[in-house]
Amino acid sequence: MNSKLFSIYETLLAHYGELHWWPAKTPYEVIVGAVLTQNTAWSNVEKAMANFGANLSPEAVANASLPELADWIRPAGFFHQKAVYLKAVTAWFAGYGCNVPAVQCEPLKKVRSELLSTKGVGPETADSILLYAFGFPTFVVDAYTVRLCGRYPVDAGKGYAAVKAFFERNLPPSTAIYNGFHALIVVNAKEYCRKKPSCGSCPLGEKCGRYGL
Ligand code: SF4
Repeated sequence: MNSKLFSIYETLLAHYGELHWWPAKTPYEVIVGAVLTQNTAWSNVEKAMANFGANLSPEAVANASLPELADWIRPAGFFHQKAVYLKAVTAWFAGYGCNVPAVQCEPLKKVRSELLSTKGVGPETADSILLYAFGFPTFVVDAYTVRLCGRYPVDAGKGYAAVKAFFERNLPPSTAIYNGFHALIVVNAKEYCRKKPSCGSCPLGEKCGRYGL
C-alpha cells in the first residue's frame, strides 16, 4: 500500500464525501454513457441520453437503425462512429442475455478481454463499464488521473496499463474504493486541478508539490 496515494484518497473523501457514481439509473445506462463520453463533455452525453426517451434499453438500441441511433446521440459528437460502437457493445451485452448477474459470474479478466475486443471499447471505456455497471474491482485511469499524478506528484509510471497497475497495487482491492477514488479525482480535477490549476482552495492544497508554484 502506498501511503501517499491512500492519503490523497482520504483527503478527497473527507472533503467531498461519497459521490455514489456513476450517474445512471441502470447498468445499461452506464454502458451507453461510457461509450458516449469518449472525447466529449458529460453535459453533451446528458443531452444525447435525453434524446433516447423511452428507448434507452438494449432492445431498443439493437432494433434502431444506425441513422436513427446516430440521430439520438448527435449531441455527443462523432455520432456515426459512436452509433456503431453502441451497437457493438449492446451486442456484447446481449450475448449475456442483457443479464447483469450473468456478466458478474464471469472472471474479470475474461469479461475485460471481451470488452477490449469490442469495436470502440478501449481500456478506459472497458474499465468504466466493468467497475460502474458491473461492480468489478478494476481501476479506471483517465487524463485527470494522469494529471494529478504528474502534479502531486505520484510516480505511477507511464501509460494506461502501468498507472492502472500502480493504483491497484497500492490500494486495497475494493470496488468501493476504486469507484469512489476515480470519481473523487474527476470531481477535484473539474473543480480545482484544471488545465490551469486553481490551487488556492484545493483540498489537496499544501500536501501537493505543485501548490503555490
Ligand atoms: S494543489 Fe493544485 S496542482 Fe495540486 S491537486 Fe490541487 S489544484 Fe492540482
